[in-house]
Amino acid sequence: MIEGGVSVAEPTVDFEGVRYFKVEEAAEESSSTVNEALSLMESAGFLLSEPVASLFVCPKCGSHKLMIQLSCPACGSVRVKKASMIEHMSCGYVDREEKFMIGGELKCPRCGRMLRGLGVDYRRLGTMAVCSACGGRFPAPVRKYMCSRLHTFEENEAGILQVKAYRLNPAKRSIIESEIIDFRLILEGVSGGGWIFQAPAVLKGRSGVEHRFAFAVWGEGKNPSKDPPDVLADMLVSDGEVDSNQVFASLAKIFDVKPWESLLIAVPRVSESARMVARSYDVNVVEAEGASQLKEKVAAAISECMGRREKEALRMEVEALREAVRELEEQEVMPENVRRGLADLDRRFFEGEIGLEDYVRERKRLLKPAKT
Ligand SMILES: [Zn+2]
Ligand SMILES: [Zn+2]
Ligand SMILES: [Zn+2]
Repeated sequence: MIEGGVSVAEPTVDFEGVRYFKVEEAAEESSSTVNEALSLMESAGFLLSEPVASLFVCPKCGSHKLMIQLSCPACGSVRVKKASMIEHMSCGYVDREEKFMIGGELKCPRCGRMLRGLGVDYRRLGTMAVCSACGGRFPAPVRKYMCSRLHTFEENEAGILQVKAYRLNPAKRSIIESEIIDFRLILEGVSGGGWIFQAPAVLKGRSGVEHRFAFAVWGEGKNPSKDPPDVLADMLVSDGEVDSNQVFASLAKIFDVKPWESLLIAVPRVSESARMVARSYDVNVVEAEGASQLKEKVAAAISECMGRREKEALRMEVEALREAVRELEEQEVMPENVRRGLADLDRRFFEGEIGLEDYVRERKRLLKPAKT
């Protein structure tokens, strides 16, 4: 409804059923799926409804395709007809109009006098149901209903189907919007070439437990099955404010995975204490009211985090080069086995066998005994 711009889901009722054509079109789903989804979303509080019609339906199958069969309340005969009634006010006689029609003129069958004028000596009493089997006259015949699947039932057994128009619950709009956000699209938009991302991301923490996150991003050359993510994001939603309990639960997940940078996306906002908690653990917080704000802010936050990560990687590279120069200066006093070890390490690094971090660490380990 949000993406298709349908503000109110109006029903169309015909003999085929209750249809929400605009929603069916926007969702590209069948009418039965749409009808069921709308009523589920209403019971979950995401939609508000307003009844627009109440339909008489079969108590067995819910069909509103009904046929009405009439019968005499006195004898049960189906030979009932509708007749307009006349009262001869002069003598009080009441009967069907056709009984007064004698020889092409209106004449009273009881007293035999001619009827002079409507409202003068006779009046019409409207229509009644008359039974030609028992002669009974009734305000209405008995009605029996039959549905399109041939179930029969009486008036007091019928069900009532309330046909509703639905609209989004404004209080839930930001939750709905954030639920339908596709983070892959945002990530594709901000991704520098070579990033790897998962959205949603299911990652195993050091505890061995798998956690689910909104998304995870790895920079160029990283291996998602081995390396911790460069950016890991968790999303928290609330009717009012995301509170510190929610934030703590999220932090536990994040620290189990140990990403380089972490992002807490709060919809629509975090409480003051929750913000302090996040800040004290060095977790970036992004607050967003709705979908468009969320897209913009999340994209900016990812770029910022990844920018920091790339600078950090660059800094480490420079550090490694400095280390290499220092090492050259020391080479004359360096034992042969250490020198060979370093050459071997260089080869493994340049051939991609080990990563930058391992390279730096290993190099330090080899140089330590040489210096002492
Ligand atoms: Zn039925
Ligand atoms: Zn009469
Ligand atoms: Zn009858």
